[in-house]
Amino acid sequence: MEEKELPRLAFFSFTCCEGCQLAVLSCEDELPDILSLVKIVNFREAIDQKSDDYDIAFVEGSITRKEEVRKLKKIRKHAKIVVALGACSSTGGLNCLKNRFTMDEVKREVYGKDAGKSERFDTLPTRAIDEIIPVDYYLHGCPISKKEFLHLTTSLLLGKRPDIPNHPVCVECKMAGNICVFEKGMTCVGPITRAGCEAICVTYGAICWGCRGLVDNPNADAHAETLKRHGLTVESVMRKFSLYGACKTHKC
Ligand code: SF4
Ligand code: SF4
Ligand code: SF4
Repeated sequence: MEEKELPRLAFFSFTCCEGCQLAVLSCEDELPDILSLVKIVNFREAIDQKSDDYDIAFVEGSITRKEEVRKLKKIRKHAKIVVALGACSSTGGLNCLKNRFTMDEVKREVYGKDAGKSERFDTLPTRAIDEIIPVDYYLHGCPISKKEFLHLTTSLLLGKRPDIPNHPVCVECKMAGNICVFEKGMTCVGPITRAGCEAICVTYGAICWGCRGLVDNPNADAHAETLKRHGLTVESVMRKFSLYGACKTHKC
């Protein structure tokens, strides 16, 4: 197949740490095969090339500036398919912490006495990208799962709909044979968080902080019962959940 006929992929980065692009680059074993099937035309972390001619746009990062809004809308016009890459892009991610303050407070904290002196210091409340443009697919997590990225990309190349999990982390946590952290006196938002990470945080001795966002229909009642048994409330746990991406689900 001529190179120009290959599907063209572009990766874009907005407000974030670029850890999800790094996760893509760390698929060393699989990237050679993928690169034989696609042409990558934008990827700031890996290549100098830039082009407005692409089919699939992977968008990383949340939106916090006016010029990002303009750039994101332009990407949507050019791309046939837009994929939100990671928690910052899918739900707002950790950047949503900023929305707990007024933008004046945020600017003063970051720019000190220079806040307000220049348009360069302007900032907007954090938004997930689907609060600005329609999004076709989501890769959840902070950072994304390499396995899920490879599954979504190969599915799109084959013209198939990718299978993105919509069951709670608890399912994968039990499959991993973990002892539930509630039994150890800790709390966890695994019961209402979208799976796909194989409950990696619990497996390695931590708790689930909900980086993959809510499942589509979280069973809040069942979760409330579990919490009540351990002397907790949904509100206290949801406050913890607001660490990750609560822009779309909370007034944070
Ligand atoms: S989702 Fe996490 S790893 Fe990915 S860009 Fe945002 S902060 Fe970084
Ligand atoms: S609540 Fe947390 S620790 Fe318990 S099973 Fe669910 S994900 Fe695992
Ligand atoms: S266990 Fe929870 S916090 Fe950890 S990766 Fe999975 S969804 Fe994210």
